[in-house]
Amino acid sequence: MTGLTDPNRRPDWEYLVQCEFRLRELEQMVDWVVKYLPDSAEHWCANRFMGHVKAIMEPFVGMTRGYPVEEARNPADRKIEIKTLDAFLADDEDDQYLRPAKTVQESLLRSSEAYDAVSSHLYAKLPHCRGCSCI
Ligand SMILES: [Zn+2]
Repeated sequence: MTGLTDPNRRPDWEYLVQCEFRLRELEQMVDWVVKYLPDSAEHWCANRFMGHVKAIMEPFVGMTRGYPVEEARNPADRKIEIKTLDAFLADDEDDQYLRPAKTVQESLLRSSEAYDAVSSHLYAKLPHCRGCSCI
């Protein structure tokens, strides 16, 4: 079985784009920035730019997919608690907002493997850092 419903399909870029077309739009945004980044630009940080890209891609792929944007929580409101593992696993406060994944594609899009595949694909398009402090 090699179709979109194959539960064993690996999350490669082309497959993920078939599952979530908005990833292609995100790629187009990255391509546009790369195209118009002047060769003469003295300062460019691929890692910093990738941080912005990840903030945009998180509603579409990875473990943050499935939460409606309007339910996104302000991290500043979150209490930091030290819990036992059992208490941690029993805490379903966040899960009350999570929409169920009803398809193979939706389950795959929510995986960390899919997040890594998208992140790697987009990062590989970026020019290397120059004039930044991370190199
Ligand atoms: Zn950098």
